[in-house]
Amino acid sequence: MAQPYFIIDDSSSPSPALHPKKMLTTEQQNLIAKHLNTRAQRPKCPVCGTTTLRVQPQVVELPTAESDSTIRRVVITCTYCGHDMYFSPEVMGLTIS
Ligand SMILES: [Zn+2]
Repeated sequence: MAQPYFIIDDSSSPSPALHPKKMLTTEQQNLIAKHLNTRAQRPKCPVCGTTTLRVQPQVVELPTAESDSTIRRVVITCTYCGHDMYFSPEVMGLTIS
């Protein structure tokens, strides 16, 4: 039996410090988990090898070399060691407004 590889955080009360428009919906988090689960290799943490990963509801904006320019990334966190992995939402067919 396949175990669920991703934990979806569908808590309805995120931290008030977070911008609500930059939060992923549960549907988007499920899409990300499905995308990663259907790639060539089943996803696992590159640091500790654990396969229990969490799709974070928050997206991050990383600064680029261009001033005032950022790129958004989906964050997948290893729930065992805490390693974060960034993924392109565009490659996963996700539009984050
Ligand atoms: Zn890990």
